[in-house]
Amino acid sequence: LGKPREQRFLMNGLDAAGKTTILYKLKLGEVEMTIPTIGMNIETVRHRSGTTITSFTCWDVGGRCSIRPLLRHFYKQGFEALIFVLDCNDRERTDDALQELQRILDEDDLSGLPLLVFANKQDLPNAMSVQEVRGKLHHINLRHREWYIQASSALNGDGLWEGLDWLTSVLS
Ligand code: GDP
Repeated sequence: LGKPREQRFLMNGLDAAGKTTILYKLKLGEVEMTIPTIGMNIETVRHRSGTTITSFTCWDVGGRCSIRPLLRHFYKQGFEALIFVLDCNDRERTDDALQELQRILDEDDLSGLPLLVFANKQDLPNAMSVQEVRGKLHHINLRHREWYIQASSALNGDGLWEGLDWLTSVLS
């Protein structure tokens, strides 16, 4: 057995989009809280499967602008893919969420990384469909990367593994 390889994913989304629920539902392991000193929680979860360790680093985007420059430090960790969790039931904050997504996509240290969007909370009757989300993403500059929208319900687990399978397939 060789040295394990670590695959690093950066997972963002507005607060309450469903990030913590996704990590929990995937049963990836214990959440390690890191760096509360900058005034926000950055969570990392590591999961080992065979010789591959997959780590998910997670924080809420939006809110206080003052910490944005501090977050740049974390973008340099050598992430291989981006996951953005969108609360499809929160139509009032869709524009905010997409604005935050654009900010992430514009970061030089994250350029070219594949993007998986979880169109989350599909179990709720008023949730935007994948098609609607795709329409909204047309207004975003994806900057030459592979991307995919996966319908999901973190609550019941639907779509989560399918999304990760897509990421695995583009990374291999
Ligand atoms: P985070 O702030 O992004 O980590 O969001 P959480 O994982 O804490 O979820 C915020 C709230 O949304 C919680 O009450 C979750 O139970 C709920 N939630 C998360 N995902 C879903 C989903 O797919 N469907 C529904 N109905 N609720 C969800």
